[in-house]
Amino acid sequence: MQRYFVAPEQFGTDQVSIGGEDARHIAKVMRGKAGDKLIVSDGVSREALVEIALIEIGEVVVNILEPLEMTHEPRIKITVAQSLPKGDKLETVIQKCTEIGAVAFAPFLSERTIVQYDERKESKRLERWRKITKEAAEQAHRNIVPAVLSPLSWKQLLQSFSGYDAVYFCYEKEEGLQLRSAAAPWLSALPPESAGKVMIVVGPEGGFSPEECRAAEEAGAVSVGLGSRILRCETAGMVAAACILYESGEMGGA
Ligand code: SAM
Repeated sequence: MQRYFVAPEQFGTDQVSIGGEDARHIAKVMRGKAGDKLIVSDGVSREALVEIALIEIGEVVVNILEPLEMTHEPRIKITVAQSLPKGDKLETVIQKCTEIGAVAFAPFLSERTIVQYDERKESKRLERWRKITKEAAEQAHRNIVPAVLSPLSWKQLLQSFSGYDAVYFCYEKEEGLQLRSAAAPWLSALPPESAGKVMIVVGPEGGFSPEECRAAEEAGAVSVGLGSRILRCETAGMVAAACILYESGEMGGA
């Protein structure tokens, strides 16, 4: 069943108003008609089974049939921090990690970031990245739309670590501690109902320097390996997010 995210203020007591691109999609692509059922979510706390009541130019009004439980979200809240990669690789990371269950993305700049970040294009790129999270969240039946932060400087990234219960700095030269050994004990010690906040930090195509690894550890991150194979920068975050959610039992199964 098609799912749409709307802003909380569009959610009324008995009806929801759907506008913009989603209204066009319902009318033109889905060829919606009165009586058709959809799912709408405000991406925060309300989700409902609804039925089309009225289709007008630029607006679709739906009647709320029944509220739905928001049960598709992992309790481990993963933020994927990714050093800005070249081309559209970040779009791949955002799409796939949204499907996997990440709740936020924090692009950042590091020593070996190749792409020249142009602040003038920031709003356009942010808009594109946020569109991708919304579409991926709808496709994956997520209850929330992950956030995409404005790109952070290296210093801002380090300062953000204190806001997380665990920060795993994926370091390709880490021959000691591997992600599973670092995360498993912490996850199993987590009280069943509590939601742990985790950041996964992934470098650019050229990787991290030893100095960056040291600085990250001093700021509270744990340097971890992801096994002996070198993953592409756009693969590493997906692997780390999936491994953590698998380890915490949130990829299905007991
Ligand atoms: N230029 C580096 C090299 O050839 O050794 C590879 C960097 S890798 C393409 C990009 C990022 O993915 C790394 O900075 C790291 O964050 C992550 N990564 C890839 N493979 C990893 C591994 N086996 N262990 C930990 N992190 C890894």
